Amino acid sequence: MTARSTTAALPVSAAGSADAVHALLAAGSIADVSLVSAEHDLHTTLLPQAVDSPGIDKKTARLLDALAAILVSRAQHEVIAIGAQVDLSDHSGKLQLVLAANAALPQTIQAYLEEVWRCMQLLAEHRQQLRLPEAKDQRARMAELIYRHNFPKFLRRVRKREAAALRFHQAMRNHITRQDVVQHDSTAIVLAMFRRYSKLIKLLSAHQVGGKNEVSAVDVVSDPNFLPIMDGLWLAFRSLRSLGENSFHLWSLRLPDHSTVELWRFFNKVTLIHGSIAELESAARSTRLYRLFRKKLVVEIVDYPRKRVTLPTSKDAWATLIDTALNSAQPLKPIEPQVIQSTAAALSTRFSDKSVSCRIHCECKILQHFTTTAYKIKPINYIGVSKLSCTGCSAVFDSYNELQNSRDRFYTRGAHGKWYFPWFLPEVGVNQIDFTNRVYKKLAEQYAQHLKTVALSDSSALSEGSQQVSSMLEDLMYLRAESLEEFDEIEA
Ligand SMILES: [Zn+2]
Repeated sequence: MTARSTTAALPVSAAGSADAVHALLAAGSIADVSLVSAEHDLHTTLLPQAVDSPGIDKKTARLLDALAAILVSRAQHEVIAIGAQVDLSDHSGKLQLVLAANAALPQTIQAYLEEVWRCMQLLAEHRQQLRLPEAKDQRARMAELIYRHNFPKFLRRVRKREAAALRFHQAMRNHITRQDVVQHDSTAIVLAMFRRYSKLIKLLSAHQVGGKNEVSAVDVVSDPNFLPIMDGLWLAFRSLRSLGENSFHLWSLRLPDHSTVELWRFFNKVTLIHGSIAELESAARSTRLYRLFRKKLVVEIVDYPRKRVTLPTSKDAWATLIDTALNSAQPLKPIEPQVIQSTAAALSTRFSDKSVSCRIHCECKILQHFTTTAYKIKPINYIGVSKLSCTGCSAVFDSYNELQNSRDRFYTRGAHGKWYFPWFLPEVGVNQIDFTNRVYKKLAEQYAQHLKTVALSDSSALSEGSQQVSSMLEDLMYLRAESLEEFDEIEA
């Protein structure tokens, strides 16, 4: 390398700048930087999530998360966030719900949400007479409405592990005796869950109008057996969950050819919408929240245009970015230069397009809206999201909250610990420079931690020659980079 091609001559974003934040997230996204355990990952979309931060009203938080979940309709790649502005001390007045998504929302979303809300209002009105047929009809009407909207996503979730679930059901039937079912609660519950699931699959086939994924949503949802099957499935899953996830995993000892971890996650997702419907019902019935349903609903959609992010333009520039992040994070042990070099090489291969079109993630769009818009009614300090947040968004909320006093903070249900890019830093109204710096520092620390782990996990191979280690690492990074490109094509 000649003196002229040193990094000083390259456009390198300053530590703590928005560009550095974007580049660091891009770096993390190819490295699968995940500091949370695999166990935590199981709860990526679990509802209802135990929301537990001081100053959050749990019931409202769960209502907002459930609303976000039922707004999703696309089979894939859709995340929706919802914020609320309401004056709870005022007995009439209006409730403003603010929606944002990662992609464009369907035009019908507003009318759909208003209709769901009307169902909840009627449920709230009848909350003293839940056994009356009107209340039951209202509940069924709401469930039908929601399943019809969510059907593409629901069908995808139901089909995802269909073969594995039916195989487990068969194996279980061959394995257990009547006695087992009678004596052990968990056996009875597990079997009931799989039976309901098999019934659901039969019902779907009965309404198939072509290939496996061409199923008439209207026919399925209005089939008189559909809601009872889903009620049963949800009840079984919920009961099993209250016995503890392990009561299901014990089955992996009896049926070792089956993955209970995968199936647990699967049933969690299959019953997710039903759990959300139950949450909406419970909110409408709540003596504390029912006043909310007397208010006039106003739905607002918030969006911000995509912006272009310029990434480092060479391997050297990426290496400088990593060095800077490490300096800022000051890991206890220095990172091997070859780890930095191979990482930088993989990054410059992966991001051969130096300029990437990025959008602000949906929960950050709502945060930006609430913190940069003048409003009359104060927003609720909780933002509902249909999925746990990524590492970038989580750093945004943590950094913003550090700069606010407790009554001006905003919370979400939590993070899954994965890094996503494309991603764009939101504006938060005040202290933008300080805020950006904090986001950068949090990401740099986690990234340094990751590189330290990479360096450690390869230290045993070091004795076989560092050249080999370096090329192995490079291969791995490259392969991952390549498979990630395929996702870009799918999402484009
Ligand atoms: Zn995010």
